[in-house]
Amino acid sequence: MFGLMMDQPLLISSVLEFAAKYHGESEIVSRTVEGPIHRYTYADAQSRSKQLAKALQALGVSEGDRVATLAWNGYRHYELYYGVSGMGAVCHMINPRLFPGQISYIVNHAEDSVVFTDLTFVELLEGMVSELGTVKAFVVMTDEANMPETSLPNVHCYETLLAAQDDDYTWPVFDENTASSMCYSSGTTGNPKGVLYSHRSTVLHAMASLAPDMLNISARDSFMPVVPMFHVNAWGVPYSVTMAGAKLVMPGMEMDGESLHELIDGERVTLSAGVPTVWLGLLDYLEKSGKSVDSFKYCVIGGSATPRAMSVAMEENHGVHVLHAWGMTEMSPLGTVNWPKHGMEDETEEARYDRQVKQGRPCYGVDMKIVNDDNETLPEDGEAFGELKVRGFWVCSQYYKGEGDSHDDDGWFATGDVATIDAGGYMHITDRSKDVIKSGGEWISSIELENIAVGHPGVFEAAVIGIGHPKWDERPLLVVVRNEGSELTAEDLISYYDGKVAKWWIPDDVAFVDELPHTATGKLLKMDLRDRFEDYTLPTAE
Ligand code: ADP
Repeated sequence: MFGLMMDQPLLISSVLEFAAKYHGESEIVSRTVEGPIHRYTYADAQSRSKQLAKALQALGVSEGDRVATLAWNGYRHYELYYGVSGMGAVCHMINPRLFPGQISYIVNHAEDSVVFTDLTFVELLEGMVSELGTVKAFVVMTDEANMPETSLPNVHCYETLLAAQDDDYTWPVFDENTASSMCYSSGTTGNPKGVLYSHRSTVLHAMASLAPDMLNISARDSFMPVVPMFHVNAWGVPYSVTMAGAKLVMPGMEMDGESLHELIDGERVTLSAGVPTVWLGLLDYLEKSGKSVDSFKYCVIGGSATPRAMSVAMEENHGVHVLHAWGMTEMSPLGTVNWPKHGMEDETEEARYDRQVKQGRPCYGVDMKIVNDDNETLPEDGEAFGELKVRGFWVCSQYYKGEGDSHDDDGWFATGDVATIDAGGYMHITDRSKDVIKSGGEWISSIELENIAVGHPGVFEAAVIGIGHPKWDERPLLVVVRNEGSELTAEDLISYYDGKVAKWWIPDDVAFVDELPHTATGKLLKMDLRDRFEDYTLPTAE
């Protein structure tokens, strides 16, 4: 017997429709690429997204076509999120920080038919246009006054396209499993692989991420996603914040400490989200300027491990509570967020900071387990570590065009992360499976060693890689960028580990460098570091 409840498909357009109706006056504030701050409301955004849907039809875009974006966080990009998916096409957010060869690969692989670009990336596209075989039109996301001279063929101006349409448009209703958008994983090995989200997975992910134990968003918040909209849908924030009817603040391309502070303070931001690197910039600015961020209550940090020292500095110096989060492109991306549970009210400050080093626990909708090399499930005791596998409502079932083989026969997705899970369900990433250091048959977590190093006041950034060792197979080398003016030595750092980790985990040596290599999504590029230190001989190997 079936229940007798309405069977309405979960469609992305319904999210904006809701916000425009019940939070029509709530603001979307954007720092534009052209310079000025732009403000409008959800009601305006809905109206313009409908104009955009009609403009896309006029350009010949139809259901299922892929429409690419190369753009920062701003209101026009937001309109593309809703306009493209809402009319039944697929919004493909491209990370402009990838190498040009990867970008053209991705455009061709996705077979994008139209590319929307911010002014910033016009030149980048001009340099690769001859390689983009499927693209029929380019749209520069600006107005006539700012339209650049460009050699791009079939090029349009965004505002001119919209001005030619009215907003008399009804969002079409279709199957909720229809593809809505896509992102490519950054591909530290091999070619990037496409993840194709559906309306259903996107709406479920947004509904779940609103919850108090996830991003904790309500209509009383002002949320600034610093994580770019080209990096896994800005962690779903353009959907979840809209669903909550909260104020949305978009930082555009300025992500330095001063620019972020100006928006946090001016727009009374209560919540924000981004990778650790951007918060280093904000912390540094606050310290030097003596300014405060009194509206700012919660900061979601993920994408890379949040060092303990960052949680402490945010909380104690600025009153911002850090929510350590973990996820990945293949998971839309949210998997876990670190909140305490009932019964933890008496947790000491120290215990809380220790807990915050973990990536957190999943919400309903995500299931996790850790397995050994034989795919046998390991105990969840906070000690055993193995490869983390996941499944759930917003986890990819396969890559676009069936590439890769990351799923086992039971449908679990192998994340490539190595983790522990404790009895309370708190997951702790100890490494990427390819970065873990294998010393004498045992594993050493490079992330844990890095977290400790960045807790030293003389350290700006740190990476730990395994170096070949005649006796132990591999031993850890700590590679460090010193803080300005610091005269820290290798001996200082090595003794800093005393009592913090098992003796055999302590790095064998320290190398000081001016800069560490990063991927397009701000993660340490350990592959490059390993290449650079390929011939390095550890003092313990002699
Ligand atoms: P990419 O585009 O680089 O694949 P993702 O955001 O999909 O970007 O990267 C996902 C990976 O990032 C995870 O599998 C994990 O290795 C790493 N990651 C994400 N959040 C965290 C975190 N809080 N701590 C440690 N690693 C993290």
